[in-house]
Amino acid sequence: MIIYGSQMYGKKERVTTWGSCEHCGAYAKQHSYSARKWGHLYFIPLIPMGGHVRVLFECSQCSMGSHIPIEQLPAVTDSVREGLKPAVAASMAGEQTFVDPEGDELHTGAQLAGAVSMLYACNVGDVVPSLLEKLPDGPARSLVEGSEYQVTGNPDAAIDCYKRAAKASPEDVVPLLWLAELLANRGRREEARAVYEKAAEMQPDNVGIVANLADLCEAMKDWDGVCDHYETLFAAAPSLGEDKKLVKTYKKACKKSRRDPVAVQ
Ligand SMILES: [Zn+2]
Repeated sequence: MIIYGSQMYGKKERVTTWGSCEHCGAYAKQHSYSARKWGHLYFIPLIPMGGHVRVLFECSQCSMGSHIPIEQLPAVTDSVREGLKPAVAASMAGEQTFVDPEGDELHTGAQLAGAVSMLYACNVGDVVPSLLEKLPDGPARSLVEGSEYQVTGNPDAAIDCYKRAAKASPEDVVPLLWLAELLANRGRREEARAVYEKAAEMQPDNVGIVANLADLCEAMKDWDGVCDHYETLFAAAPSLGEDKKLVKTYKKACKKSRRDPVAVQ
């Protein structure tokens, strides 16, 4: 048997983080590293296939990730760090949102906390402590602390930080969404559902929250809950009623809970 294929060789500047895989959905270890893809025969590299790349967030469960050409890494890193500046300024001014140079209104804490995993994946995670030093005590800082704990594999400490952010900013839905997602990923579904329900009360028109509730109910085999949330979803976004996969899940839940599938034909 001849064994040939392609593989990443010469892996360096490796960073391991924890996060949700955008391909398989698993909350698992993710690897970021610089390397080059080679065609191999018996695992001996023969032919380089393309240039050097930075692999980002390669999932330890499904091996999927993304990559950028290595020469673009400094520009990507700079743009992430540059993008933090207005968010840091907003945090120092105690503002929950800010308007970026393109005119979009962004959430201060989400922008800061969302950059943490990317900084780590680009091998500049060491700037996070200095970022934290600049931020005043408050919900945005708690979100960043939580994100760092989450990324570095300490989800329980992250959950505490997100709870603190939610408590400090009770009218803000963002800390609740970060908290609920991590609770759900940790298998703490009852708690996750309670947090999503609170978020749904604050933003009844937020289709994403309803979709997450439907997924959670499905995982918990709460078929009545699945039906209720799908009916809300189809009413709020009728185009979803044409998605075969969603309709199939909804009809299955209706059958399980002996309800008529009133929301679809
Ligand atoms: Zn995966």
